[in-house]
Amino acid sequence: MRVESDAGHLTDTALAWCKGVQHDRPTASMPRRRPKSPQLPPEALAEITAIYTALEQRALPRACTGQAGCCHFRITGRTPQLTRGEALYAMQGVRASGRREIRPHPEGACPLLAKDGRCTIYRHRPFGCRTHFCQAAGGMYPRRHVADLIQRLEALDEKLGGDGPHPLEKALTQA
Ligand code: SF4
Repeated sequence: MRVESDAGHLTDTALAWCKGVQHDRPTASMPRRRPKSPQLPPEALAEITAIYTALEQRALPRACTGQAGCCHFRITGRTPQLTRGEALYAMQGVRASGRREIRPHPEGACPLLAKDGRCTIYRHRPFGCRTHFCQAAGGMYPRRHVADLIQRLEALDEKLGGDGPHPLEKALTQA
């Protein structure tokens, strides 16, 4: 995932952001999902960007080599869990990328992973994608390091009428 990404998703069951939920396996009958055009209210946009900025300011040393293995949910058995604010922000990235629809990845990886291994919404990637790193890269961030930011995401979720985090594809579809 790095070219542009040194990220992944939280894979610690201790972190509500990624509960080891199995990613939907694409099937012939699985519909392609057209992104809606949801708007992130200005205050919510300010809060989500402030949370991500705060996270960047407390980045821990990690050595991601950009293999994007953490974006292959079927292989890892885990998928990022997004709150509503994260999902709406990620959808901004989807629209900015020019995508007209979100198609399931043929290999069960993140639908936002490009063929060349790049994250197509890197600047808008979810919190979990910013805090999970494989063991080879140094491992995911400890919960205590980001607990306050998770609480802010949960509070924002509530303000936006969300009902808690959902697996990435579902969260994007509902956004
Ligand atoms: S949004 Fe998808 S492609 Fe981008 S970093 Fe997260 S899991 Fe990888």
